Amino acid sequence: MKSSIAERMAFYASDKFDAAFRYDGRDLGVSCRPGKTVFKVWSPLAERVELRLYRDGDSKACLKKEMLAGARGVWTQEFQESLHGMYYDYLVRIEGEDVETADPYATGCSCNGGRSMAVDLGLTNPAGFEADKAPAPAQERIIYELHIKDFSYDEESGVPKAYRGRYKAFTVKGTNGRYPTCMEYLKSLGVTHVHLLPFFDYGSVDEAGDEAQFNWGYDPVNYNVPEGSYATDVKDGVVRIRECKEMIQALHENGIRVIMDVVYNHTHSEDSWFQRLVPGYYYRYEEDGSLSNGSACGNDIAVGRAMVDNYIADSILYWAREYHLDGFRFDLMGLLTVELMNRIRRELDEEFGAGEKLLYGEPWSADDSPMEDGTRAAQKQNVGFLDEGIAMFNDDTRDAIKGSVFYGEEPGFVNGGKETEEAVLHAVTGWRDGGADYLPKSCNQIVNYVSAHDNFTLWDKLVLSMHRKRPNFDLRYRDVLAANKLSAFIYFTCQGNIFLQAGEEFARTKHGEDNSYCSAPELNMLKWNRTVEYEELVEYYRGLIRIRKKLPGLCDKSPSAVERITGQRIHGEGVVSFLVDNTGSASCPWDELFIIYNASSDNCELSLPDGVMDSEAPDRGVWEVLADGEEADCRKKAEFRGNRVSAAAGSGLLLGRRTAPSGADFS
Ligand code: CA
Repeated sequence: MKSSIAERMAFYASDKFDAAFRYDGRDLGVSCRPGKTVFKVWSPLAERVELRLYRDGDSKACLKKEMLAGARGVWTQEFQESLHGMYYDYLVRIEGEDVETADPYATGCSCNGGRSMAVDLGLTNPAGFEADKAPAPAQERIIYELHIKDFSYDEESGVPKAYRGRYKAFTVKGTNGRYPTCMEYLKSLGVTHVHLLPFFDYGSVDEAGDEAQFNWGYDPVNYNVPEGSYATDVKDGVVRIRECKEMIQALHENGIRVIMDVVYNHTHSEDSWFQRLVPGYYYRYEEDGSLSNGSACGNDIAVGRAMVDNYIADSILYWAREYHLDGFRFDLMGLLTVELMNRIRRELDEEFGAGEKLLYGEPWSADDSPMEDGTRAAQKQNVGFLDEGIAMFNDDTRDAIKGSVFYGEEPGFVNGGKETEEAVLHAVTGWRDGGADYLPKSCNQIVNYVSAHDNFTLWDKLVLSMHRKRPNFDLRYRDVLAANKLSAFIYFTCQGNIFLQAGEEFARTKHGEDNSYCSAPELNMLKWNRTVEYEELVEYYRGLIRIRKKLPGLCDKSPSAVERITGQRIHGEGVVSFLVDNTGSASCPWDELFIIYNASSDNCELSLPDGVMDSEAPDRGVWEVLADGEEADCRKKAEFRGNRVSAAAGSGLLLGRRTAPSGADFS
């Protein structure tokens, strides 16, 4: 008789199970090199496991071989030859029933991922990949969130058709000729990291289908294999691996680090390789035996179980090592545990050096999910338990600046919201000043942003909230443009990490669509001519990126960075100011910053706080405008009237007190 879910759950949760079957070896999957190939698969309930080898993704098996049962539920088979390029799967018998499955540890797969592939990874490297290295860390992290297909699908991208929407687009040089696009554009923008939406093998796009298909890709099938629809050839499993590496290599060559968006909280379908190999082990269940659904995607991975945690940690290490990735963004990190996240941090630090790989995630889930006993959810309220090297998207900062992501018309600070001033001032310190019911260890744990792939683009959100009656996303509203600039000005002057959705800087619109995960590529893609149409905005972001990198008072990620922010004041509706101790860099000429956010519709004149100098005392330095509502990273003499300075309506003002001799121009 078949075991019930409840019986299985009790068995998996028992100490007996871990004592007998927990396997901490890091060699599951296939190791394949000249003269030897070893297959290892973990399936502790299996009565027998048969390995089946294929010459390609479709043909009948050319060889079947019994796997040998070993200790701790691991089944093994060895060949004294390299089987590089051979496809395989397993026939697993559990409680008398045979089920076919591919290998969750596989590093290669067939078209659409139904069969695994034995890969000698050394043979998948593009030329020069062994020498590929991440660029040196910049003064600040400016993370640009990008979808591979969005990047180059537009004809205006200048990318040859065969590469459009694919990994290869990143390798194209001099893409347009008329104005910078794709890689040339990224370089000119000055971002330090590109964060790519999921590119492990996912299930929602038919890799053999036409290119009009689109999906964000939050539906993993083969975690350790790159997605095939971004490759130029889906039939040969090596091509996706090589081209994915080429993409990463190209970004590195252009001075940009690469972050992978990872989705370990759920799988495309609960009928996964995990489920076929160890039924029930990898998922969370409610007491009535139904799958839990904290992901809102139909299932939740049972993070907190020994072999689940091993799998995820190994998978991260694999991508970091094999693909030279520089960081990971965890989808619905709130469904994962503090314990697992801290373990991943530790293991990455041990192998690559402390903090070398960036880790951050969404500190929430879509719904409740039954966690393993003794574990803590990696949610916002538990940020204090997370390692200081694990950051979270801060929705409080996001919503304070421009309003709720769920209610399009609801405004925030920049677009007429009421009583948002205090929240904005807390956001400046990365919520390190005790302004929230959670307390980050440092602003290093905070990701500041106002838009991401989820929800409305910033432009659409601002249009919806500022032109409620007849929103027209294609109109170049002056007030929306100003609010866009002010939004950016604010989060670029908050302590923490900086993150933006690709195209936010050229007024990206999805015409009010707030969930475009499977919308047409034409709606989702970056429309490159907007970088010209909205050049003024792009230039503004470029300036913010440049000036941000020069300001140690804002870039400081240490626990004491919060002490640099002083003199926070609310001057009335929509007007706040504060001072930043900007010392600590020999090359930066401004020792103090005075920052004003004026979201009101009036120019306002403010005095510098008492005790801070006045501009009429030249021995104490000269105040310069480093950014205002018109331009960022400028150098203009600040117009003071006595101790007072004026900030224009609907804009930010960033002043720096220059103490270095005027001859020592900083650039
Ligand atoms: Ca796929």
